[in-house]
Amino acid sequence: MEIYILHVSPIFPNSLEGDSISTLKPQGTRHGFNIAVKIALKLSKLSFKSLQYSFDIEQRAIEKPKSRFIDLMISEILKIHQPKLQLPEVRVSRRMRSTLGSYMPSAKQIAISSRLLAMGEDGDIREVVMHEVAHAIVHARFGNKPSAHGREFKAVCKELDIEPRRYVDVSTEKWQTRIRYAARCKFCNLLVVRKRRMPFARCVCGSKIYPKLWEAISESERSQDSDWVMI
Ligand SMILES: [Zn+2]
Ligand SMILES: [Zn+2]
Repeated sequence: MEIYILHVSPIFPNSLEGDSISTLKPQGTRHGFNIAVKIALKLSKLSFKSLQYSFDIEQRAIEKPKSRFIDLMISEILKIHQPKLQLPEVRVSRRMRSTLGSYMPSAKQIAISSRLLAMGEDGDIREVVMHEVAHAIVHARFGNKPSAHGREFKAVCKELDIEPRRYVDVSTEKWQTRIRYAARCKFCNLLVVRKRRMPFARCVCGSKIYPKLWEAISESERSQDSDWVMI
C-alpha cells in the first residue's frame, strides 16, 4: 500500500496524539449555569479583564471543522476531469502533524489535516486538495504503476491547471498563535481554555484543576457563530 503525502515542517512538537473528543461535548445544562456564573462574576469585586477568563465564560460549542465544501469542490472537479470516479467523503485528520493532505489508493481516501482546514487560507486548502485529487485521478487512470509524482502525475496536474509540485508551501507559523487548549472542569463542568497546556488551572468556579488532557482547539473561520473547532 502506498500513501502519498504532502510535507511541511512540523511545528506542533508538543501536541498530543489520539486525544479523546468525548470530554468536550457540550452539556445541556451549561447555559443555565453559564448565566449564573456571569452574574456571579459581575457581582464579584474581582477583575476579569483577562482574555483567558472571557474564553472560559463564553462556553461556545466545540465541533469538528466543516469539510463539506471540500467534498463539493472535489465532486465539481471530478465531474469535468474524471466523471466515473467516485471518492468517499474527505477524512479530516487530527493526527496529521507534518502532513497537510494524503491520498490512500486502496480506499480511494483523501485525508486533510484538521489544522489546515481550521486555520489554513482558502488558496492553500484548495492547493492541497487539488494535489490529492490529482493523485486520485492518476490512480484511477493508470493504477499503481506510475511513480507518485512522475510523468502521469505531471500531466494530470497540467490538466487541472495546478503546479505539479511534490511539496506545497503552506505558511503554518501563524497557526500556532491561534491554537488554544481546552480542559473540562470536573467540579462545575465548564470548559477552561488556555493558551498553553498548563499543569493546573483555576476555573471560574474557583476550583483548581489538574487536567490530564488539554484538547487543542481553534476558533473556526468558516462557522458563522464562530465556534471552536477541534484541531
Ligand atoms: Zn503528492
Ligand atoms: Zn469549575
